[in-house]
Amino acid sequence: MIIKKTPAQIEKMARAGKVLAEVIKEMGDAIRPGVTLKELDEMAERSMRLRGAVPSFLGYRGFPASICASPNEMVVHGIPDGRKLKEGDICSADFGVILDGWHADSAYTFPVGKVSDAARKLLEVTQAALEAGIACCRSGNRIGDIGNAIQRVIEDAGLSVVREFVGHGIGRSMHEDPQVPNCGTAGRGPVLEEGWVLAIEPMVTTGGWETKILDDNWGVVMADGSLSAHFEHTVAIAANGPRTLTAL
Ligand code: MG
Ligand code: MG
Repeated sequence: MIIKKTPAQIEKMARAGKVLAEVIKEMGDAIRPGVTLKELDEMAERSMRLRGAVPSFLGYRGFPASICASPNEMVVHGIPDGRKLKEGDICSADFGVILDGWHADSAYTFPVGKVSDAARKLLEVTQAALEAGIACCRSGNRIGDIGNAIQRVIEDAGLSVVREFVGHGIGRSMHEDPQVPNCGTAGRGPVLEEGWVLAIEPMVTTGGWETKILDDNWGVVMADGSLSAHFEHTVAIAANGPRTLTAL
């Protein structure tokens, strides 16, 4: 069941989204060689709570932290630990908050210092794929249009879509219907309607798309060890087109 949001509810979600945008901006300013993933997690949690929001990941199915931090070949769901980032790493970070009962969800892959050309291209293509997906978030389009647009940007650049994880509806819960795959056929799937709010979140890799789960049962890494990136925005389908609620 897809739950539509009223314009007033979307305004509340936009307030949650603004918190995330500010938290991500702060992290971008702070991330550097030598910082630990745990320090980034603590910084994000403090920053969320200072703005009156609650980190939605903390305790979600037992997840022990406020953000997911997934460096290099890790694609999603990394538990922030004492690992230090080093020059040339990339680090995907996924963030969620609840503000006044409404969720926002956003992810960003940060370069750490100077990164390789391959890493820079991966980040640029993943962001471009996210923008292409967002541009399809208009009433009358179909879910398959979003995935198809994302997949085309990624594969045209010679990169691969990570297929096991998908975007989703969001609202009073972090994960609502519908699922939003990052690949697919244009013209297929449910017709988008004004009032839907979707988390669009391409995950992209430089190698094959198969993944495996670490022994902690959370962290997901690329099976062949390739670099991966993840960008995500929470997007409302408004009367005049897409409105990115977590815009930086
Ligand atoms: Mg997320
Ligand atoms: Mg999400």
